[in-house]
Amino acid sequence: MIAFLERFVPENDTEMRADDDDDANLCRGLELQGTIDYVCTGPAAKDFGGIFEIRPLAVIRPAGQEDVARVVRVASRSANLTVAARGNGHSINGQAMAERGLVIDMRAMDGLIQVLRIGASAYVDVGGGVLWEHLLERCLLGFGLAPRSWTDYLGLTVGGTLSNAGVSGQAFRHGPQTSNVSELEVVTGKGDTLVCSETQNSELFFGVLGGLGQFGIITRARVLLQTAPDRVRLIRVVYSEFEEYARDAEFLVSLPEGESFDYVEGYAFVNSNDPVNGWASVPLRSDQGFDPSKIPRDAGPVLYCLEVALHYRNSDDTYSTDKAVGQMLGRLRFCENLKFEVDLSYMEFLLRVKQVEQAAMANGIWDTSHPWLNLFVSKRDIVDFDRMVFKKILKDGIGGPMLVYPLMRSKWDDRTSVVLPEGEIFYIVALLRFNHPYPKGPPVERLIAQNHEIIQGCTTHALDFKLYIPHYRSEEQWKRHFGKHWATFVERKGRFDPMAILAPGQRIFSRNH
Ligand code: FAD
Repeated sequence: MIAFLERFVPENDTEMRADDDDDANLCRGLELQGTIDYVCTGPAAKDFGGIFEIRPLAVIRPAGQEDVARVVRVASRSANLTVAARGNGHSINGQAMAERGLVIDMRAMDGLIQVLRIGASAYVDVGGGVLWEHLLERCLLGFGLAPRSWTDYLGLTVGGTLSNAGVSGQAFRHGPQTSNVSELEVVTGKGDTLVCSETQNSELFFGVLGGLGQFGIITRARVLLQTAPDRVRLIRVVYSEFEEYARDAEFLVSLPEGESFDYVEGYAFVNSNDPVNGWASVPLRSDQGFDPSKIPRDAGPVLYCLEVALHYRNSDDTYSTDKAVGQMLGRLRFCENLKFEVDLSYMEFLLRVKQVEQAAMANGIWDTSHPWLNLFVSKRDIVDFDRMVFKKILKDGIGGPMLVYPLMRSKWDDRTSVVLPEGEIFYIVALLRFNHPYPKGPPVERLIAQNHEIIQGCTTHALDFKLYIPHYRSEEQWKRHFGKHWATFVERKGRFDPMAILAPGQRIFSRNH
């Protein structure tokens, strides 16, 4: 087990260096429409992970794309300056930070949300710093339209999730958010502003999608929309055997559109009365109880909950919704009498994690450290992963959700920068730890060590996996992560950000002169 401490606060953090003076002088020459702030102890030095604290030289609140381009150009004239676009700072490991560099607060550019029709399709042009929850409100309330592919939590920016992938229970059908964008406006590491798409500047377009901020800053994205449903039937069913859970989940994601649910997710939970990790995590309403006597006697320490949803319209009669749901559930093999349902408006459904956020804030576990781990694991190895990780290392839970559900590789465009395990079906595993700070909760170092133990175990047992929202420290590790795609990644870097100015917090490349 690699049990090292990975808290990171640079040495001599408070000292100003001679270079800083030069760089600050350069920045003073910036003729911005927006603002620049040299007091850098605020949010830009931190992120949701709460593990790293890295102070920038300045934080820029741009008024528009031209400000973003000016900042990148000024950095390219300096000896050392780097530039990090910061979305909503919901990274875990300092990915949106820039040590003594320039952080661009993309949230300042959240004005653009414009719905447009091109041929028979509807799209929205949206600023890179807009939160998905704001996009939802505008599209749904104003036009009855909505993007097709989401994340579970919508307090994330468009540019931030497109730089990773953006995954939730719709991705098996529509692909990740990176598969639902037709055009981007990007400021490259050379300070050029380019519009790109599948047919125009396509190398930049595909590079930026899932590109960890390495090739350009997304100032605008064109996102595909669909007519939004009015309501959603959300259902949870429980399994005691992972193999049966996986077989049913894979069956549902493989069915053609119209014959399956519109949303398929799921998670592992602890077979106990633990209030966070246990049975109580399954019921959807406070008046629904979980009856443990319904769990098969031979069940192990961990159970599995399949979470599915069906969209419907107000005009659909309840009978036909019940019938469609009943037919689909009838083909599944969950534990009898461990089924929970709720009907929600589409907006309530998509904003469901907002309540979790509010509860966590009230509880004091939102603003603490979150050593989260996200992985993609191939279908070939997911049973071994379950045996090694859920049933052993995490059998007592993690203080939060342990998501595990299948996705379809054919819905991902392999020209983007995202890397996936082999095979058509692979699983996303998301270990979303919410713990009280030590000593009320476990020491964060122990949780980080547990993450390392999981990664090390996957490597030792030669499981086919990739980190999602990856975090590595050496070029060797990044090379291994990208595998055969490394050469393309490096080539794109040389082409669009040759001085390695952008997104230094990913720690893939070092600034060149
Ligand atoms: P930041 O953390 O600010 O930035 C992330 C990276 O992108 C940085 O390298 C940054 O420099 C770069 N970047 C930011 N904006 C831009 C831009 N405009 N152009 C280019 N590069 C940019 N992910 C999922 O896929 N599905 C989920 O359901 C999901 N749920 C989450 C729930 C919570 C509570 C949290 C904390 C995270 C969740 N995530 C999920 C992960 C999330 O997608 C990533 O952390 C994402 O990076 C966060 O977006 P952000 O806007 O905060 O980006």
